[in-house]
Amino acid sequence: MAETVMRRRAVLRAIAGTGLGAVSVSASHPARAHTPGQMATRELSVPGSEYTLEVMTTEARTSGLTALVVGGVHGDEIAGYQAAESFVNWTPEAGKLVLLPRANPGAIADDSRSTDTGDLNRKFVPDDTPTTPLARTIWNFVQRIDPDALVSLHESRGIYGGEPSGVGQTVFCSPRKEGYDAARMAVRRANRLVSQPKLAFKSGTIGPPDDEPIGLLTEKATYDANIPSFIVETYWNNPLEKRIDWHQATVRGVLDYFDLID
Ligand SMILES: [Zn+2]
Repeated sequence: MAETVMRRRAVLRAIAGTGLGAVSVSASHPARAHTPGQMATRELSVPGSEYTLEVMTTEARTSGLTALVVGGVHGDEIAGYQAAESFVNWTPEAGKLVLLPRANPGAIADDSRSTDTGDLNRKFVPDDTPTTPLARTIWNFVQRIDPDALVSLHESRGIYGGEPSGVGQTVFCSPRKEGYDAARMAVRRANRLVSQPKLAFKSGTIGPPDDEPIGLLTEKATYDANIPSFIVETYWNNPLEKRIDWHQATVRGVLDYFDLID
């Protein structure tokens, strides 16, 4: 495990020892008190929006790292948000799992990539304030929980390095050791479920902040907040069940690396 992760964990253990470890996300609505292993749900309100964001947190009895899984940044990438939601009834063996399964509820309601404010995954401008109320709400939330890993689940119309061309069947990671190592575990887990060689998962790197496309959530998390981040992309032209299984497997790989599961 990379030194930075170890350092973050040492700090976290020290905090847990003071009794402050149980303090969880402060949101616009206070969290329901919960005991370890039970899920707490809360809602984040988005200024000017009819939609709220639902956040679920499950904490293990054993202290550890915090992972945030985000789905539905693009509203027509169904397997991503359904996979994120599928972790709702799941308790990590250590640490804390935080889910934001439907990050863009308006786009999901329309089953479209974007809303009339544009593509949410272009609003997280590096070194600046996110450019829409929804993006600002999500970014404030990310900063508050300060996860040790962030995974954003997406789908693509093509295959990375394959035909048709796209970014599917790939786990993109922050360019640092724990990013590469965790992505490798995620790819390995997913590939246990892949039978066709052309659909084998690969890993890729989240580009520098000044490379197009600009304004990705995972890019801002990587470069502005130093959070090891991952984009999982499945190729949409496969049965939904399979795509969900692949997403779950990649998330489990990342959680395994960060010791939320064995
Ligand atoms: Zn997407």
